[in-house]
Amino acid sequence: MRISADRERCIGSGMCALVAPDLFDQDENDGRVRLLAPKLHSGLSAAREAVDACPAMALEIDESRD
Ligand code: SF4
Repeated sequence: MRISADRERCIGSGMCALVAPDLFDQDENDGRVRLLAPKLHSGLSAAREAVDACPAMALEIDESRD
């Protein structure tokens, strides 16, 4: 399972880093999302919460990929 973040869409709201700090951080220069763990081994519920919380719809979980 993988998670992806579209930095072009990201508006730097920081919701993802707030709800799933193990998976996301914000770039210290532009405030946009930084993916800490593209391969999702655990924390699926936190990842789903972040996807739902993102106001820019910049996050996606691909459950078909390892
Ligand atoms: S929640 Fe969405 S818009 Fe906000 S920082 Fe994360 S990816 Fe960017």
